Amino acid sequence: MKFNFFGNEKIVHYFERLLEKGEFPPAFLFCGRDGLGKFYLAKSIAKAINCLENKGSGLFFCGECKNCKRIEDESFLDLTVVRPEGNFIKIDQIREVVKKCSLSPFESEKRIIIIDSAEKMNRESANSLLKTLEEPPEDVIFFLITSKLSGIIPTIRSRCQIFEFLPLKNEELARFLSTKKNIPYEDALSYALFLDGSPGKIVDFDRKEIHSFQNKTLTFLEICLDNNYPLYSIRGIIESVCVKEEVFDKFLKFFFYLLRDILVVKTRLSNVGLYYLNELERVVFFAERLNFERLFEISFKLFDYEENRDLNLKRDLFLWNLFFFIKSERDVEGYE
Ligand SMILES: [Zn+2]
Repeated sequence: MKFNFFGNEKIVHYFERLLEKGEFPPAFLFCGRDGLGKFYLAKSIAKAINCLENKGSGLFFCGECKNCKRIEDESFLDLTVVRPEGNFIKIDQIREVVKKCSLSPFESEKRIIIIDSAEKMNRESANSLLKTLEEPPEDVIFFLITSKLSGIIPTIRSRCQIFEFLPLKNEELARFLSTKKNIPYEDALSYALFLDGSPGKIVDFDRKEIHSFQNKTLTFLEICLDNNYPLYSIRGIIESVCVKEEVFDKFLKFFFYLLRDILVVKTRLSNVGLYYLNELERVVFFAERLNFERLFEISFKLFDYEENRDLNLKRDLFLWNLFFFIKSERDVEGYE
């Protein structure tokens, strides 16, 4: 199986060279937002080091041999994966790691320790790990993985080689999406925006869902701006998006995307990078009817809700409020 990684090529090349040389520094720190493949890369390196089919050819692993399979299910004796138990990585978990580091690897030349969500180490755990990182055994390689670099104490950071994983460019993501989901590249360019730079978000990628939220937000705004719609039609939308917090959150997120697209269309920038490219006509309709001031006012309403989330504002109340806000102003001076 050829190692397949999208984005962050420089980092991948660096490890390809290391694997060819077979010399490893003792500790790496992978940072960057979730979904960029940090953990996947660390595990792939562990496979490449131990794959029975890899004859010194860099970042290659077969995925089929017993070592590859045991690394995949984390039963390989010389691989230790540490994850938070509850909210923290506890001192006992790190003590266990430290103890293992004092032993020679059982079946490999290298013992590999992957600490996932390393920012979850409390101070005690971090200090305990630090002692090992200060005098690392020759046959151990550490991979610390984090989405929050500031959560790692500076003394640990200074003992690691730090690699910052960057979000993917939209073209890269579109290629990824087009390959994985068999979508034509031109269409994928638009869908890729919804992955927010992270290929890992593909697990939640659902075209039907995207269309459904696009349609809900578009219809919501259409009803606000058109008196011919009966009131119950807005009630249907509000009720359907308020059933669950996560549905509501997505609705708000799509509403932001929509407002942003209307602004882009209004400023007559190019149509590249529009979230609602497939619904361009409806977006243009709004761009012709809402002036900049109104668009900002509506955006501020949404920001305001986001900021005051802790107050536990009722979701449906907020949407009714938003509806009457957009609607009432329209009757007075909403048109451009
Ligand atoms: Zn293998």
